[in-house]
Parts: sequence; C-alpha cells; structure tokens
Amino acid sequence: MSKPLLVGITGGIGSGKSTISQFFKILGIPVYNSDDNGKRLMVEDAQLIDNVKSEFGEESYFEDGGLNRSYLASEVFSNEERLKILNGLVHPAVGRDFKNWIARHQNSPYLLKEAALLFETGIYQELDKTISVMAPNSIRMGRVLLRDEQRSRQQIEDIMAKQVSDNQRKKLSDYLIDNSGAELLIPQVLKIHQSLLSLFSERS
Ligand code: ATP
Repeated sequence: MSKPLLVGITGGIGSGKSTISQFFKILGIPVYNSDDNGKRLMVEDAQLIDNVKSEFGEESYFEDGGLNRSYLASEVFSNEERLKILNGLVHPAVGRDFKNWIARHQNSPYLLKEAALLFETGIYQELDKTISVMAPNSIRMGRVLLRDEQRSRQQIEDIMAKQVSDNQRKKLSDYLIDNSGAELLIPQVLKIHQSLLSLFSERS
C-alpha cells in the first residue's frame, strides 16, 4: 500500500482553515492542527521545554510545569527577533511530532496538515499538495472580531500584514477554496477530495 499524500491546508487569519478542516474530517481524513499541537508540545516535549528555558529563562514555566504565557508573551510582544527565536524552537518540535503522527496514520489516502504559516515558514515544500482557504480581508476581519473578543482591529491587521498576500497564495497553492460566502463549501471540498483520491490511486 502506498504512503498517504501529505496535504497542507492554510490561509490567512480567519480565512476558515479550521472550519473547512472539519469537512475533511467528516470525510474520514485525519487532520493535524499545527497550532494546537505546538501549544501542547510547549508543555509536553522535554526537548522543547529545555530549549525554551535556556533561551527565555526558567521563569517561562511555573513550578507545576504549566507554561507562563503572560511572561513569554511579554518577552516576544513587539520583539520580532525574540518571536522568531521562539518560533524557531517550536517549529522543529512540531515537525518531529508531525512525523510521528504520520507514522500512526498510514491507512489514509491523504493526510491534512493545518497550519497558518505554511508558505511563510517554507513547510509547504515538504508537502505533496497545498490547499489555500481564501476570503477577502474585510470578511476575515469581521469574522475574527466576532470570534476573538480580546483581539483589536489593529492586532488583526498586524497579523494579516505578516502573512503572504492572496496573489502569492494563489501562485503557491495547488487548490483554492473560496470561503468568501459566494460559493458553497461542500462541493468545493468534495472536488478537492476526489482529486486527491485520484492522485493517490494513480500513485498506488
Ligand atoms: P485562524 O487562522 O485565526 O485560526 P481559521 O482560518 O482557522 O482562523 P476559522 O476559525 O475556521 O478560521 O474561521 C474564523 C471564524 O469565521 C470562525 O468563527 C468561523 O466560525 C467563522 N467562519 C468560517 N467560515 C465561515 C463562513 N463561510 N461563514 C460564516 N462564518 C464563517
């Protein structure tokens, strides 16, 4: 039996990656959420914990092993360099964990890796195909303001500014999903699903 295809699903903040990943899950496709697993690994992965402590200090963790989020946030808040360092520690840990996860899901025709920063980090190059979820900035802004009470308009704009543009996304993606509200989602998901199943059977 062939190995599963590795497929990335990405999109800007509030584009609907998690929402659309749920449709793929309903179709039986395993989904690895990079952000959620990154958060879990911050308190579970001994190597990552050691690295964070040596870079940011013992105070990064409480005595009970919990992550001192407000301390770490203050360390990286408006400090690009420190944020890059922290991401540089988390990404390899997520990469290792993703590999183990793949090994546990060999019976699927394809596996989805959901990540906000697939192009920005270069991770897309390690995947067979990529799907981008697209919606105009104004719609994404409205959805995120509704979803995340604690986030200001300015904070959301700052995040958007650091993510690749729609044009770059279109160039780099194998599949696009229009989540602006203009197109039905299920037919778009089914079309991509069928295409990936065909690719998998061609490869087998
Ligand atoms: P992030 O990058 O911030 O994690 P995301 O790309 O995973 O976001 P979601 O969390 O799936 O995006 O969607 C953002 C918000 O918009 C959620 O509250 C979700 O319920 C809502 N949403 C997603 N798609 C639609 C849609 N087609 N119509 C209305 N609301 C939607």
